[in-house]
Amino acid sequence: MSAPTSANPPFPMHVSVAEAREMLAALLPELETETVPVAQALGRTLAADLEALVSHPSATESALDGIAAREADTLTASAEAPVRLKIVGESRAGMPFGGRVGAGECVRIYTGAPLPEGADAICPVEQLADEESADDGPEYVGPEYVHLLRPASPADVRPEGGDFRAGETVMRAGLRLSAPRVALAVALGHAKLPVRRKLRVALLSTGDEVIEPGLPLQAGQVYDSNRVGLSAMLGESGCEVIELGHAPDSPASLQAAIAGAGGADVLLTSGGVSMGKYDFMRDLLIERGRVSFWKVRMRPGGPAILGGWNGLPVFGLPGNPVSSLVVFHVIVRPALTGQPVQSLKLRAATPFRGLKDKTAFWRGVIKDGEVGDYGPQGSGILRSLSDANALVIVPEGGGVQAGDAVDVVLL
Ligand code: AMP
Ligand code: MG
Repeated sequence: MSAPTSANPPFPMHVSVAEAREMLAALLPELETETVPVAQALGRTLAADLEALVSHPSATESALDGIAAREADTLTASAEAPVRLKIVGESRAGMPFGGRVGAGECVRIYTGAPLPEGADAICPVEQLADEESADDGPEYVGPEYVHLLRPASPADVRPEGGDFRAGETVMRAGLRLSAPRVALAVALGHAKLPVRRKLRVALLSTGDEVIEPGLPLQAGQVYDSNRVGLSAMLGESGCEVIELGHAPDSPASLQAAIAGAGGADVLLTSGGVSMGKYDFMRDLLIERGRVSFWKVRMRPGGPAILGGWNGLPVFGLPGNPVSSLVVFHVIVRPALTGQPVQSLKLRAATPFRGLKDKTAFWRGVIKDGEVGDYGPQGSGILRSLSDANALVIVPEGGGVQAGDAVDVVLL
């Protein structure tokens, strides 16, 4: 078997990155909804809008440690002419003051403690001076007074529901549940969340030269870094990974390995999709399976293939670890998660070369708010997987001079 040479293969070739992403997404199933404890919802996709079941704050409360008083009593307070108030009690977080604050009175209050009735303002502890009194000794038990060095401020009162009110829709279906969003869901009053089930991704690496981590390496062999890296990235992306291990370069071994993918929603493979004689993943899909596209107008990562095997969608990543990382970042992950590629604009510290008919994703290093060329851009430079922290996107036919604004994907 060999790579198709016909000028008109029966499937699209050289698709754009965006087309590749859309074609992969189109082959994935709609994921059912399940309910999980909120502590297990990290990385999942919210399946329904989420309402606040309670208000936050749940009562009008203090934003600071200090005293709560009536603002009107304290308007003239300054360091030169402090205002003296009588302390009539204390409001602690979880233990409110039961009484009422009258004219000339205040209560000691702490962050998150309910504002007592009558009070409408807070003076922080840093702006208070204790009363100097002849009687003020360890045995003194008379009324306590405090001096305010500035007026108490209503701005340091957090009104009930000022953050969100019960009944308000705060999070929308489709959101990916990051750690802060999981925390917010708890604050909204939810102990369980409706989420999409995890996408089941079978993962297979290929190559006669590829060996298990830790085995003695013969010249010409390479450790199976892709399988571990891709599995980790799939896990980070909220997918369930079905590990198919590694298969040598033969059609029969590949078919036998793929047969273990039962129950998967999609199969992700590494290696064997390029132009070589022994790139059997490519042949398997082209000659005995189905092909949606072969090759993407990008570098690195150009040889990627999308197809199907017995009804199972198959995405074939190039074996080169740099290529597979880049294709995963800009095509596979966004398609699997439904989350767009997150890019930002930065100023280029160095030039970046453009390619006539490919989008380039050059490895870069962000430093002092600018992005510079990482250095060697060959897709065999594995140390860049650690040292580079960005992909600089140079559109087809483009080119970047130092000082230009460029689109950057964080790695
Ligand atoms: P291929 O895409 O199969 O032609 O492989 C391209 C390059 O990537 C070759 O240098 C392979 O040795 C290397 N390679 C392939 N698979 C892996 C893997 N799983 N881990 C690390 N390197 C790999
Ligand atoms: Mg190979």
